[in-house]
Amino acid sequence: MSKAIPFIISSPSGGGKTTILKKVLAGLPGIVFSISHTTRSPRPGEVNGRDYYFVTEEEFIAVREQTPSGFIEWARVHDNFYGTSRSDVEMRLKEGADVILDIDIQGARQVKDAIEAVSIFIAPPSLTELERRLRGRGTESEEVVALRLANARRELTAAAEYDYLVINDSLSEAVEMVRSILISERSRKRRNIDGNSVELNIS
Ligand code: ADP
Ligand code: 5GP
Repeated sequence: MSKAIPFIISSPSGGGKTTILKKVLAGLPGIVFSISHTTRSPRPGEVNGRDYYFVTEEEFIAVREQTPSGFIEWARVHDNFYGTSRSDVEMRLKEGADVILDIDIQGARQVKDAIEAVSIFIAPPSLTELERRLRGRGTESEEVVALRLANARRELTAAAEYDYLVINDSLSEAVEMVRSILISERSRKRRNIDGNSVELNIS
C-alpha cells in the first residue's frame, strides 16, 4: 500500500503556481488541489468552491477558533487571511489521494511542523520578470501589486527551506519539472513498503 502524499507549493505572488498547477493536475490522476479559505475578494473568473472558499473575516475566524483549529495552517498574507481546512486535507489523504497545498511560506512552515510533506518552491527568473508577469495578469490594483512585490523579496529568501526549487522561466519546462517531482515522489521506496519487505512480482 503506498501512502498518500501531502505536497506544498509556494512562490511569490505572480510566480506561476496557479498556471503550473492547472496544467500539471489536468494530466495527473490521483492528486487533488486543496481548496483554501480566503477573505480576499474573488478575481474575475474565480469560482467559489473551486478556486477558493471565499469567506468573510467573521467566517474565517469562526473556523480558526474551533478546537482543535479547523485549519491545519493559516496565515495573514498580503493583508488577507488564508487557511487550509484540516478536515478536507485529512479526508483526502485518508481516501488515498495525494493533496497539493498552494500556500505561502508561513503556512508551509506550519504544515512541515505538523506532517511529513514534500515542498516545492517556484521562483521567477528575476524580480523584473516577476513584476512584468504580475502586472500583465492585470488582476490587482496598483496598490496591491506594490504590496505583493515588496513581499516577494522576503518570500524568495525562504526558497532554501523547500525540498525542491523550480525556476519558472520557460513555462513548459517548469510544468514538466513539477510533474516529474510529483511522479518521482510517488515512487520513492519508503512510500511503497508495508513493514520491511517489498514484494516484487518476479517469476
Ligand atoms: P501565482 O498563482 O503564483 O500568483 P500565476 O500562475 O497567476 O501566478 O502567474 C502570474 C502571471 O504570469 C499569469 O498571467 C501567467 O499567465 C503568467 N506566467 C506564469 N508563468 C509564466 C511563464 N513561464 N512565462 C510567462 N508568463 C508566465
Ligand atoms: P492569491 O491571493 O494570489 O491567490 O494568493 C496569495 C498568497 O496566498 C499565495 O502565496 C498563496 O500561495 C497563498 N495562499 C493561498 N491559500 C493559502 C492558504 O490556505 N494558506 C496560506 N498560508 N497561504 C495561502
